[in-house]
Amino acid sequence: MKILVTGGAGFIGSAVVRHIIKETQDQVLVVDCLTYAGNLESLADVSQSDRYHFEQVNICDRPAVDEVFLRHQPDAVMHLAAESHVDRSIDGPSAFIETNIVGTYTLLEAARHYWMNLADKKKAAFRFHHISTDEVYGDLNSTDELFTETTAYAPSSPYSASKASSDHLVRAWHRTYGLPILVTNCSNNYGPFHFPEKLIPLIILNAISGKKLPVYGDGGQIRDWLYVEDHARALYCVVTSGLVGETYNIGGHNERRNIDVVMTICRLLDEMKPVKPVGVSQYEDLIMHVTDRPGHDLRYAINSSKIFRELGWKPQETFESGIRKTVEWYLNHQTWWQHVLDGSYCGERLGLNQSV
Ligand code: NAD
Repeated sequence: MKILVTGGAGFIGSAVVRHIIKETQDQVLVVDCLTYAGNLESLADVSQSDRYHFEQVNICDRPAVDEVFLRHQPDAVMHLAAESHVDRSIDGPSAFIETNIVGTYTLLEAARHYWMNLADKKKAAFRFHHISTDEVYGDLNSTDELFTETTAYAPSSPYSASKASSDHLVRAWHRTYGLPILVTNCSNNYGPFHFPEKLIPLIILNAISGKKLPVYGDGGQIRDWLYVEDHARALYCVVTSGLVGETYNIGGHNERRNIDVVMTICRLLDEMKPVKPVGVSQYEDLIMHVTDRPGHDLRYAINSSKIFRELGWKPQETFESGIRKTVEWYLNHQTWWQHVLDGSYCGERLGLNQSV
């Protein structure tokens, strides 16, 4: 099968592409316009494969997207291209409206016209898989409540509102036009190749260079963490075995307060990198509480029993094993993150802020 992966040069998209090339016989066509978050160095491991192809295309560009469908004739679409950083969505929502809403609409229309003209067998097998977030559900107040596939949408940030809009568009294209779609809503991912504006890589990289470790408010916000390679396996499982029209929540059952995540990284670094930057006696001493983000959601936690039960997927990593692998990966892949920090990877030079 040939799978068109939008956003395949991003954090999760590149994990999906690596998974497909390394663990299956399928072909991958990456469609990515390479914003600051797109990094072809994340695909270096697999880009020599003759089952890998790349097209630098913006999903908002309908003629270019039509041309990609016609030329490559994919059997499935996995749609991950998005603006994904909550803080950026607060500072400048327009790119989020453009890519996440207009881009998804454009891709849906291109996919629909392509799909309508397919021969019967290929038409029946075609899938459009939309990858979304648990942030569309808003946040949870009680400590024992979990998001399920039927939880009402209540997004808080421009990012989550734009993702909620795209989810509704995808479901409407199924109901109205019969496009064979699947939707997944996942909790916070972490792991290798994570862009250093996000909490976990930011904390690791700041700590090893002796910089402050910014924590929003008291750090009491709770997130449910999933190792990115577990997410990539779940997504492949859904696109190949999920039921058309269904939504699957994906999570790791790893709820942690942000402050505990930061403390865990500090302790792992104490163990793995005992020679500290000048003037630092313990990494924890670098923690600095900063003014909380406006509208910050307090707790997300996901019930993923449907995908466990119906598709047999479950995470392989615990938070303890996944965070250890992640810290080790950043310590051993300085060239990758150095190129991101100095802007030489292909995107722009960045002033990085934390986000989860
Ligand atoms: P990312 O920001 O790392 O990557 C996004 C990719 O999309 C980049 O390669 C970028 O170049 C590309 N892109 C952006 N705009 C584009 C456009 N207009 N046309 C073509 N390509 C474009 O994001 P990520 O963290 O890998 O997230 C991928 C998807 O998963 C997103 O849809 C996000 O909402 C969703 N998601 C993310 C998380 C998480 O924790 N990171 C959790 C749940 C769901």
